[in-house]
Amino acid sequence: MSGDPYTPQSGDPNLSIEHYELELDYKVSTNRLSGTATVSGYVRAATSSLSLDLVGLRASKVSAAGRKLAFHQSDRKLRVSLGTTWEPGERFSVSVVYAGAPRPRRSRWGTIGWEELEDGVIVASQPTGAPTWFPCNDLPSDRATYLLTFTTESAYTVIAGGATTSSTRGGKTTWTFRRDIPTATYLATVQIGRYLAKPIPFSAVRGEIHYPQAIESRVLADFEDLPAMMKVFEESFGPYPLPDYRVVVTEDELEIPLEAQGVGIYGANHADGLGGSRRLIAHELAHQWFGNSVGLSQWRDIWLNEGFACYAEWIWSERSGGPTADEKALMHHARLRLLAQDIVLGDPGPDLMFDDRIYKRGALTLHAIRRTVGELLFFRLLHAWAGRFAGKTATTDDFVALAEEVTGVPLAQLIHSWVSEPRLPALPARAA
Ligand SMILES: [Zn+2]
Repeated sequence: MSGDPYTPQSGDPNLSIEHYELELDYKVSTNRLSGTATVSGYVRAATSSLSLDLVGLRASKVSAAGRKLAFHQSDRKLRVSLGTTWEPGERFSVSVVYAGAPRPRRSRWGTIGWEELEDGVIVASQPTGAPTWFPCNDLPSDRATYLLTFTTESAYTVIAGGATTSSTRGGKTTWTFRRDIPTATYLATVQIGRYLAKPIPFSAVRGEIHYPQAIESRVLADFEDLPAMMKVFEESFGPYPLPDYRVVVTEDELEIPLEAQGVGIYGANHADGLGGSRRLIAHELAHQWFGNSVGLSQWRDIWLNEGFACYAEWIWSERSGGPTADEKALMHHARLRLLAQDIVLGDPGPDLMFDDRIYKRGALTLHAIRRTVGELLFFRLLHAWAGRFAGKTATTDDFVALAEEVTGVPLAQLIHSWVSEPRLPALPARAA
Protein backbone atom coordinates (compact mmCIF):
# COMPACT_ATOMS: atom_id res chain seq x y z
CA MET A 1 0.00 0.00 0.00
CA SER A 2 1.26 3.42 -0.83
CA GLY A 3 1.50 6.33 1.55
CA ASP A 4 2.31 9.02 -1.01
CA PRO A 5 1.65 8.71 -4.75
CA TYR A 6 4.90 10.59 -5.53
CA THR A 7 6.98 8.05 -3.58
CA PRO A 8 4.87 4.87 -3.90
CA GLN A 9 7.64 2.58 -2.68
CA SER A 10 8.23 4.50 0.54
CA GLY A 11 6.55 4.24 3.90
CA ASP A 12 3.67 2.33 5.37
CA PRO A 13 0.55 4.44 5.99
CA ASN A 14 -0.59 1.89 8.59
CA LEU A 15 2.24 2.95 10.89
CA SER A 16 2.55 6.05 12.96
CA ILE A 17 6.04 6.52 14.38
CA GLU A 18 6.38 8.78 17.40
CA HIS A 19 10.05 8.41 18.28
CA TYR A 20 13.31 7.19 16.78
CA GLU A 21 16.13 6.35 19.12
CA LEU A 22 19.31 5.82 17.11
CA GLU A 23 22.49 4.61 18.76
CA LEU A 24 25.12 4.58 16.05
CA ASP A 25 28.84 4.01 15.70
CA TYR A 26 30.66 5.24 12.64
CA LYS A 27 34.19 5.11 11.30
CA VAL A 28 34.88 7.86 8.77
CA SER A 29 37.97 6.23 7.22
CA THR A 30 36.14 3.00 6.34
CA ASN A 31 32.57 4.36 6.07
CA ARG A 32 31.36 1.67 8.45
CA LEU A 33 28.09 2.36 10.27
CA SER A 34 26.66 0.05 12.91
CA GLY A 35 24.16 0.35 15.70
CA THR A 36 20.63 -0.01 16.92
CA ALA A 37 17.49 1.86 15.91
CA THR A 38 14.57 1.67 18.29
CA VAL A 39 11.41 2.73 16.47
CA SER A 40 8.37 3.45 18.62
CA GLY A 41 4.80 4.23 17.63
CA TYR A 42 1.46 2.60 17.03
CA VAL A 43 -0.36 0.76 14.24
CA ARG A 44 -3.33 2.39 12.53
CA ALA A 45 -4.85 -0.83 11.18
CA ALA A 46 -4.79 -4.42 12.37
CA THR A 47 -1.58 -6.06 11.20
CA SER A 48 0.66 -9.03 11.81
CA SER A 49 3.75 -7.45 10.27
CA LEU A 50 5.57 -4.13 10.16
CA SER A 51 7.34 -2.77 7.14
CA LEU A 52 10.13 -0.19 7.50
CA ASP A 53 12.25 1.43 4.80
CA LEU A 54 15.95 0.47 4.91
CA VAL A 55 18.30 0.71 1.94
CA GLY A 56 21.87 -0.62 1.59
CA LEU A 57 22.28 -1.67 5.23
CA ARG A 58 21.77 -5.13 6.73
CA ALA A 59 19.68 -5.87 9.78
CA SER A 60 21.04 -8.69 11.97
CA LYS A 61 18.49 -8.78 14.78
CA VAL A 62 15.01 -7.39 15.37
CA SER A 63 13.28 -7.50 18.73
CA ALA A 64 10.33 -6.05 20.65
CA ALA A 65 9.92 -6.12 24.43
CA GLY A 66 12.97 -8.41 24.68
CA ARG A 67 11.49 -10.93 22.26
CA LYS A 68 13.29 -11.74 19.00
CA LEU A 69 11.15 -11.23 15.91
CA ALA A 70 11.50 -12.91 12.53
CA PHE A 71 12.25 -10.53 9.66
CA HIS A 72 12.87 -10.48 5.97
CA GLN A 73 14.87 -7.87 4.09
CA SER A 74 14.61 -6.84 0.44
CA ASP A 75 16.65 -4.10 -1.21
CA ARG A 76 14.21 -1.45 0.09
CA LYS A 77 12.21 -2.90 2.94
CA LEU A 78 12.66 -4.53 6.28
CA ARG A 79 9.56 -6.63 6.97
CA VAL A 80 9.12 -7.74 10.54
CA SER A 81 6.73 -10.56 11.47
CA LEU A 82 4.99 -9.86 14.74
CA GLY A 83 3.94 -13.48 15.36
CA THR A 84 0.51 -12.19 16.40
CA THR A 85 -2.00 -9.63 15.16
CA TRP A 86 -1.79 -6.12 16.51
CA GLU A 87 -5.04 -4.18 16.73
CA PRO A 88 -5.43 -0.54 15.64
CA GLY A 89 -3.91 1.76 18.23
CA GLU A 90 -1.59 -0.93 19.59
CA ARG A 91 1.72 0.59 20.55
CA PHE A 92 5.07 -0.90 19.70
CA SER A 93 8.75 -0.33 20.23
CA VAL A 94 10.88 -2.36 17.83
CA SER A 95 14.69 -2.47 17.99
CA VAL A 96 16.70 -3.15 14.86
CA VAL A 97 20.41 -4.00 15.08
CA TYR A 98 21.98 -3.15 11.75
CA ALA A 99 25.25 -2.33 10.01
CA GLY A 100 26.91 -1.69 6.68
CA ALA A 101 28.64 0.84 4.47
CA PRO A 102 25.98 3.50 3.91
CA ARG A 103 25.82 5.06 0.47
CA PRO A 104 23.42 7.28 -1.41
CA ARG A 105 20.53 5.65 -3.20
CA ARG A 106 19.72 6.30 -6.82
CA SER A 107 16.36 7.91 -7.39
CA ARG A 108 14.52 9.91 -10.03
CA TRP A 109 15.80 12.96 -8.11
CA GLY A 110 19.45 11.89 -8.41
CA THR A 111 21.50 10.21 -5.70
CA ILE A 112 20.19 11.05 -2.24
CA GLY A 113 20.78 10.12 1.38
CA TRP A 114 24.04 9.35 3.17
CA GLU A 115 26.98 10.54 1.11
CA GLU A 116 30.70 10.43 1.79
CA LEU A 117 32.61 13.64 1.24
CA GLU A 118 36.40 13.86 0.72
CA ASP A 119 36.80 13.74 4.49
CA GLY A 120 33.43 13.46 6.15
CA VAL A 121 29.77 12.89 5.43
CA ILE A 122 26.65 14.79 4.45
CA VAL A 123 23.13 13.49 4.59
CA ALA A 124 20.81 15.02 1.98
CA SER A 125 17.63 12.98 2.09
CA GLN A 126 14.85 14.90 0.40
CA PRO A 127 12.64 13.19 -0.48
CA THR A 128 13.47 9.50 0.10
CA GLY A 129 17.09 9.28 1.31
CA ALA A 130 16.53 8.71 5.04
CA PRO A 131 16.49 4.86 4.79
CA THR A 132 20.13 4.98 3.65
CA TRP A 133 21.10 5.51 7.29
CA PHE A 134 18.28 4.31 9.53
CA PRO A 135 15.18 2.09 9.32
CA CYS A 136 12.17 4.39 9.16
CA ASN A 137 8.65 5.02 7.97
CA ASP A 138 9.75 7.34 5.19
CA LEU A 139 6.69 9.53 4.64
CA PRO A 140 6.70 13.34 5.05
CA SER A 141 3.42 13.11 6.98
CA ASP A 142 4.79 10.74 9.63
CA ARG A 143 6.79 13.00 11.92
CA ALA A 144 8.56 11.88 15.06
CA THR A 145 10.94 13.02 17.77
CA TYR A 146 14.55 11.83 17.78
CA LEU A 147 17.28 10.86 20.17
CA LEU A 148 20.51 10.28 18.27
CA THR A 149 23.66 9.00 19.96
CA PHE A 150 26.51 9.03 17.49
CA THR A 151 30.09 7.90 18.14
CA THR A 152 32.99 8.57 15.78
CA GLU A 153 36.67 9.59 15.70
CA SER A 154 37.31 12.69 17.82
CA ALA A 155 38.98 14.57 14.95
CA TYR A 156 35.52 15.09 13.47
CA THR A 157 32.65 17.32 14.44
CA VAL A 158 29.18 15.80 14.18
CA ILE A 159 26.24 18.14 13.61
CA ALA A 160 22.67 16.96 13.72
CA GLY A 161 20.64 19.72 15.33
CA GLY A 162 18.75 19.67 18.58
CA ALA A 163 19.98 19.78 22.16
CA THR A 164 23.57 18.56 21.92
CA THR A 165 26.09 17.09 24.34
CA SER A 166 29.35 15.28 23.70
CA SER A 167 31.92 13.29 25.62
CA THR A 168 35.32 12.01 24.51
CA ARG A 169 37.04 8.77 25.46
CA GLY A 170 39.93 6.88 23.89
CA GLY A 171 40.08 8.97 20.72
CA LYS A 172 36.37 8.70 20.07
CA THR A 173 33.63 11.21 20.78
CA THR A 174 30.04 10.34 21.48
CA TRP A 175 27.57 13.04 20.46
CA THR A 176 24.01 13.10 21.69
CA PHE A 177 21.29 15.08 19.92
CA ARG A 178 17.77 15.35 21.24
CA ARG A 179 15.06 16.73 18.96
CA ASP A 180 11.72 17.09 20.73
CA ILE A 181 9.87 18.74 17.86
CA PRO A 182 8.15 16.36 15.43
CA THR A 183 10.46 16.04 12.46
CA ALA A 184 9.99 14.40 9.06
CA THR A 185 12.45 11.60 8.25
CA TYR A 186 13.87 13.51 5.29
CA LEU A 187 14.84 16.36 7.64
CA ALA A 188 16.74 14.14 10.09
CA THR A 189 20.43 14.62 9.47
CA VAL A 190 24.04 13.92 10.34
CA GLN A 191 26.84 16.11 9.04
CA ILE A 192 30.41 15.02 9.75
CA GLY A 193 33.65 16.86 8.99
CA ARG A 194 36.78 18.50 10.34
CA TYR A 195 35.02 21.71 11.19
CA LEU A 196 35.69 24.75 13.28
CA ALA A 197 32.72 26.26 15.11
CA LYS A 198 31.73 29.85 15.84
CA PRO A 199 28.58 31.10 17.53
CA ILE A 200 26.09 33.00 15.36
CA PRO A 201 24.96 36.00 17.45
CA PHE A 202 21.19 35.58 17.27
CA SER A 203 19.30 37.26 20.07
CA ALA A 204 17.12 34.38 21.33
CA VAL A 205 18.14 31.36 19.24
CA ARG A 206 21.26 29.28 19.85
CA GLY A 207 23.26 29.66 16.63
CA GLU A 208 26.43 28.01 15.48
CA ILE A 209 28.30 27.92 12.18
CA HIS A 210 30.67 25.07 11.24
CA TYR A 211 33.23 25.23 8.42
CA PRO A 212 36.68 24.05 7.38
CA GLN A 213 39.48 26.31 8.56
CA ALA A 214 40.77 26.96 5.04
CA ILE A 215 37.67 28.96 4.03
CA GLU A 216 37.02 30.72 7.34
CA SER A 217 37.19 34.32 6.14
CA ARG A 218 34.90 33.67 3.15
CA VAL A 219 32.36 31.86 5.33
CA LEU A 220 32.28 34.46 8.06
CA ALA A 221 31.89 37.28 5.54
CA ASP A 222 29.09 35.59 3.60
CA PHE A 223 27.03 34.42 6.57
CA GLU A 224 27.40 37.67 8.50
CA ASP A 225 23.82 38.70 7.65
CA LEU A 226 22.20 35.70 9.36
CA PRO A 227 21.23 37.54 12.58
CA ALA A 228 19.64 40.34 10.52
CA MET A 229 17.82 37.77 8.38
CA MET A 230 16.55 36.01 11.48
CA LYS A 231 15.18 39.33 12.73
CA VAL A 232 13.43 40.14 9.44
CA PHE A 233 11.93 36.64 9.21
CA GLU A 234 10.72 36.68 12.81
CA GLU A 235 9.04 40.00 12.06
CA SER A 236 7.55 38.60 8.86
CA PHE A 237 6.54 35.07 9.93
CA GLY A 238 6.52 35.02 13.73
CA PRO A 239 8.96 33.45 16.20
CA TYR A 240 11.64 31.09 14.87
CA PRO A 241 10.19 27.63 15.54
CA LEU A 242 13.20 25.95 17.17
CA PRO A 243 15.66 26.70 20.00
CA ASP A 244 18.65 26.33 17.64
CA TYR A 245 19.95 26.97 14.14
CA ARG A 246 23.21 25.63 12.85
CA VAL A 247 24.93 26.17 9.54
CA VAL A 248 27.41 23.73 8.04
CA VAL A 249 29.67 24.70 5.14
CA THR A 250 31.42 21.63 3.76
CA GLU A 251 34.92 21.53 2.33
CA ASP A 252 33.48 19.93 -0.81
CA GLU A 253 31.42 21.77 -3.36
CA LEU A 254 27.72 20.95 -3.33
CA GLU A 255 25.36 21.35 -6.25
CA ILE A 256 22.67 22.93 -4.10
CA PRO A 257 22.38 23.90 -0.44
CA LEU A 258 19.75 22.09 1.56
CA GLU A 259 17.72 22.30 4.71
CA ALA A 260 17.44 19.86 7.60
CA GLN A 261 15.64 20.34 10.92
CA GLY A 262 17.52 23.19 12.63
CA VAL A 263 20.40 22.95 10.14
CA GLY A 264 21.30 24.65 6.85
CA ILE A 265 23.93 22.90 4.73
CA TYR A 266 26.08 24.62 2.11
CA GLY A 267 29.09 23.68 -0.03
CA ALA A 268 32.40 25.56 -0.12
CA ASN A 269 31.24 26.97 -3.48
CA HIS A 270 28.36 28.75 -1.71
CA ALA A 271 30.84 30.83 0.31
CA ASP A 272 32.57 32.91 -2.33
CA GLY A 273 33.40 35.66 0.14
CA LEU A 274 31.43 38.12 -2.00
CA GLY A 275 27.91 37.44 -0.76
CA GLY A 276 27.02 35.50 -3.91
CA SER A 277 24.76 33.12 -1.98
CA ARG A 278 22.80 35.60 0.15
CA ARG A 279 19.59 34.51 -1.53
CA LEU A 280 20.27 30.86 -0.69
CA ILE A 281 21.20 31.70 2.89
CA ALA A 282 17.80 33.35 3.29
CA HIS A 283 16.06 30.48 1.50
CA GLU A 284 17.37 27.68 3.75
CA LEU A 285 16.73 29.69 6.91
CA ALA A 286 13.13 30.29 5.83
CA HIS A 287 12.59 26.54 5.45
CA GLN A 288 12.76 26.27 9.23
CA TRP A 289 9.30 27.90 9.23
CA PHE A 290 8.06 26.59 5.88
CA GLY A 291 8.75 22.91 5.30
CA ASN A 292 10.34 21.98 8.60
CA SER A 293 7.88 23.46 11.11
CA VAL A 294 4.80 23.73 8.86
CA GLY A 295 5.31 20.45 7.02
CA LEU A 296 3.88 18.67 4.03
CA SER A 297 1.38 15.88 4.38
CA GLN A 298 1.94 14.97 0.74
CA TRP A 299 4.75 15.73 -1.72
CA ARG A 300 2.35 17.18 -4.30
CA ASP A 301 2.12 20.30 -2.10
CA ILE A 302 5.88 20.93 -2.37
CA TRP A 303 5.14 24.54 -3.42
CA LEU A 304 4.15 25.19 0.20
CA ASN A 305 7.82 24.59 1.06
CA GLU A 306 9.62 26.00 -1.95
CA GLY A 307 7.29 28.84 -2.94
CA PHE A 308 7.37 30.21 0.61
CA ALA A 309 11.15 29.82 0.95
CA CYS A 310 11.58 31.57 -2.40
CA TYR A 311 9.26 34.37 -1.30
CA ALA A 312 11.36 34.74 1.84
CA GLU A 313 14.33 35.47 -0.45
CA TRP A 314 12.33 38.36 -1.93
CA ILE A 315 11.35 39.61 1.51
CA TRP A 316 14.99 39.59 2.56
CA SER A 317 15.95 41.40 -0.66
CA GLU A 318 13.44 44.18 -0.08
CA ARG A 319 14.24 44.52 3.61
CA SER A 320 18.00 44.64 3.04
CA GLY A 321 18.08 47.36 0.38
CA GLY A 322 17.86 45.16 -2.71
CA PRO A 323 15.06 44.97 -5.27
CA THR A 324 11.58 44.92 -3.67
CA ALA A 325 9.43 41.79 -3.69
CA ASP A 326 7.24 43.54 -6.27
CA GLU A 327 10.23 44.13 -8.56
CA LYS A 328 11.33 40.52 -8.10
CA ALA A 329 7.81 39.32 -8.84
CA LEU A 330 7.55 41.35 -12.05
CA MET A 331 10.92 40.06 -13.23
CA HIS A 332 10.15 36.42 -12.50
CA HIS A 333 6.66 36.68 -13.91
CA ALA A 334 8.13 37.98 -17.17
CA ARG A 335 10.61 35.08 -17.21
CA LEU A 336 7.99 32.45 -16.48
CA ARG A 337 5.82 33.81 -19.28
CA LEU A 338 8.54 32.76 -21.71
CA LEU A 339 8.70 29.19 -20.38
CA ALA A 340 6.33 26.34 -21.08
CA GLN A 341 3.12 26.69 -19.06
CA ASP A 342 2.61 22.98 -18.65
CA ILE A 343 3.10 22.55 -14.95
CA VAL A 344 0.41 22.45 -12.26
CA LEU A 345 1.87 24.10 -9.18
CA GLY A 346 -0.30 22.14 -6.76
CA ASP A 347 0.39 18.76 -8.37
CA PRO A 348 3.49 18.91 -10.56
CA GLY A 349 4.15 15.16 -10.55
CA PRO A 350 7.21 13.58 -8.97
CA ASP A 351 9.59 14.40 -11.84
CA LEU A 352 8.91 18.13 -11.70
CA MET A 353 8.51 18.61 -7.96
CA PHE A 354 11.88 20.40 -7.71
CA ASP A 355 11.51 22.27 -11.01
CA ASP A 356 12.50 25.91 -10.62
CA ARG A 357 9.05 26.98 -11.85
CA ILE A 358 7.58 25.50 -8.64
CA TYR A 359 9.77 27.85 -6.60
CA LYS A 360 9.10 30.99 -8.64
CA ARG A 361 5.44 30.42 -9.38
CA GLY A 362 4.89 29.46 -5.74
CA ALA A 363 6.44 32.76 -4.67
CA LEU A 364 4.37 34.61 -7.28
CA THR A 365 1.22 33.02 -5.84
CA LEU A 366 2.04 34.61 -2.51
CA HIS A 367 2.78 37.90 -4.18
CA ALA A 368 -0.56 37.78 -5.99
CA ILE A 369 -2.22 37.45 -2.58
CA ARG A 370 -0.12 40.32 -1.21
CA ARG A 371 -1.11 42.58 -4.10
CA THR A 372 -4.76 41.66 -3.55
CA VAL A 373 -5.06 42.01 0.23
CA GLY A 374 -2.33 44.55 1.01
CA GLU A 375 0.60 44.53 3.42
CA LEU A 376 -1.14 44.24 6.75
CA LEU A 377 -3.39 41.28 5.91
CA PHE A 378 -0.70 39.52 3.90
CA PHE A 379 1.81 39.44 6.74
CA ARG A 380 -0.97 38.57 9.18
CA LEU A 381 -1.64 35.54 6.95
CA LEU A 382 2.04 34.48 6.92
CA HIS A 383 2.11 34.72 10.73
CA ALA A 384 -1.10 32.72 11.03
CA TRP A 385 0.17 30.01 8.66
CA ALA A 386 3.46 29.61 10.52
CA GLY A 387 1.66 29.75 13.88
CA ARG A 388 -1.43 27.63 13.38
CA PHE A 389 0.41 24.77 11.67
CA ALA A 390 3.66 24.96 13.65
CA GLY A 391 4.91 21.40 14.19
CA LYS A 392 2.06 20.05 12.06
CA THR A 393 1.46 19.12 8.45
CA ALA A 394 -0.77 21.07 6.09
CA THR A 395 -2.15 21.03 2.55
CA THR A 396 -2.96 23.56 -0.15
CA ASP A 397 -6.62 23.39 0.93
CA ASP A 398 -5.59 24.29 4.48
CA PHE A 399 -3.77 27.31 3.09
CA VAL A 400 -6.72 28.46 1.01
CA ALA A 401 -9.07 28.13 3.98
CA LEU A 402 -6.71 30.01 6.29
CA ALA A 403 -6.10 32.75 3.70
CA GLU A 404 -9.83 33.45 3.46
CA GLU A 405 -10.33 33.22 7.20
CA VAL A 406 -7.46 35.57 8.11
CA THR A 407 -7.96 38.17 5.40
CA GLY A 408 -11.74 38.03 5.10
CA VAL A 409 -11.22 38.23 1.34
CA PRO A 410 -12.57 35.49 -0.97
CA LEU A 411 -9.21 34.24 -2.27
CA ALA A 412 -9.98 30.65 -3.29
CA GLN A 413 -10.48 31.44 -6.96
CA LEU A 414 -7.35 33.57 -7.15
CA ILE A 415 -5.19 30.95 -5.44
CA HIS A 416 -6.60 28.14 -7.55
CA SER A 417 -5.83 30.04 -10.75
CA TRP A 418 -2.16 29.97 -9.69
CA VAL A 419 -2.08 26.52 -8.11
CA SER A 420 -4.48 24.33 -10.08
CA GLU A 421 -4.20 25.55 -13.68
CA PRO A 422 -1.11 25.28 -15.89
CA ARG A 423 -1.68 28.66 -17.56
CA LEU A 424 0.26 31.46 -15.86
CA PRO A 425 -2.19 34.10 -14.53
CA ALA A 426 -1.45 37.81 -14.74
CA LEU A 427 -0.39 39.45 -11.48
CA PRO A 428 -3.40 41.21 -9.98
CA ALA A 429 -3.41 44.98 -9.63
CA ARG A 430 -2.08 46.28 -6.33
CA ALA A 431 -4.61 46.99 -3.60
CA ALA A 432 -5.07 50.69 -2.98
ZN1 LIG B 1 14.15 24.99 -0.78
